[in-house]
Amino acid sequence: MAAALLARACGPVRGALWPRDCRRLHTIFQSVELPETYQMLRQTCRDFAEKELVPIAAQVDKEHRFPEAQVKKMGELGLMAMDVPEELSGAGLDYLAYTIAMEEISRGCASTGVIMSVNNSLYLGPILKFGSKEQKQQWITPFTSGDKVGCFALSEPGNGSDAGAAATTAQADHDSWVLSGTKAWITNAWEASAAVVFASTDRSLQNKGISAFLVPMPTPGLTLGKKEDKLGIRASSTANLIFEDCRIPKENLLGEPGMGFKIAMQTLDMGRIGIASQALGIAQAALDCAVNYAENRRAFGVPLTKLQGIQAMQILGGMGYVTEMPAERHYRDARITEIYEGTSEIQRLVIAGHLLKSYRS
Ligand SMILES: Cc1cc2nc3c(=O)[nH]c(=O)nc-3n(C[C@H](O)[C@H](O)[C@H](O)COP(=O)(O)OP(=O)(O)OC[C@H]3O[C@@H](n4cnc5c(N)ncnc54)[C@H](O)[C@@H]3O)c2cc1C
Repeated sequence: MAAALLARACGPVRGALWPRDCRRLHTIFQSVELPETYQMLRQTCRDFAEKELVPIAAQVDKEHRFPEAQVKKMGELGLMAMDVPEELSGAGLDYLAYTIAMEEISRGCASTGVIMSVNNSLYLGPILKFGSKEQKQQWITPFTSGDKVGCFALSEPGNGSDAGAAATTAQADHDSWVLSGTKAWITNAWEASAAVVFASTDRSLQNKGISAFLVPMPTPGLTLGKKEDKLGIRASSTANLIFEDCRIPKENLLGEPGMGFKIAMQTLDMGRIGIASQALGIAQAALDCAVNYAENRRAFGVPLTKLQGIQAMQILGGMGYVTEMPAERHYRDARITEIYEGTSEIQRLVIAGHLLKSYRS
């Protein structure tokens, strides 16, 4: 039902055209037949991406500019809180819907894709799963409409893959927690109105001493680092969160003390699904661009498609190397999908761990 609402809400943008050089849509996988509701959702997101994201993607990338108006519209369509139940003002959809939407939004603009993914799976995800009723009302509902976005602060300057070695601490003090330390690489940091933050409440227990906290932004004792000047996904902000005796109320603990590492790992398991969809969307956009170019560009008297097979960025020749065509942006944007929400090496460790567990059980 929510998908039907999404499709209806998006009615006016349907039929919009892909820009001239990328108008034709080529789909990598056609063999999976999706139920009609999901096909409608895909079309709605594709129409939205073509009309609202493709025209601005190059400019916001160049200017490192958060696509605020587009994020608001995505909130109105339910895309910023896709698997949040309707009673909390979410779209009430499922993870298959989320992957489809992530692919289509990232196909239009990979930066907007990561802004959406962090709000959905990294910020709202753990609160939905581990939050109390009151926490869900306070920290989820205002973040569903696109007016506010959240962020997720696990990595630190000294540890990314080894997240259990967190050096940021949270000390109980009467009716407060006091946070100290630096979180690094935090997506959405500059625009976020809240963060799920991981800090150690007992460093002697290593990863079993990590807890998760809900931190309003801005708040005294929390400052932002500079915006990182990144290779790709440049319209999303990435910065340090610096905590210096940052005091938050006791009730802002998410889950139980010591549950933080489990919350973080389960959250990343879900987050990786969205990042895989983002990678697929970027690949699809690159393929659209390459095929269109190869069909229209002539060399030796024939279109490139009639010449010996060449791929990807290479098929555009020199045009693949300049900002006039989107291929160079797709090339830059794609690289991050092998790094964040856990690197590909760590993902292989996670998969191997699950595989070995299934053999033992
Ligand atoms: C643009 C961007 C956005 C990000 N957004 C967020 C965010 O919103 N929130 C957040 O908390 N973090 C975020 N991150 C951090 C990201 O999750 C980390 O960069 C990532 O987990 C890798 O950690 P690291 O950079 O410390 O690399 P390291 O952990 O130092 O790893 C360096 C290299 O060693 C490899 N390696 C490490 N351990 C092993 C092992 N056991 N086996 C095999 N290889 C290994 C890694 O795969 C990698 O290739 C972001 C990063 C970037 C670049």
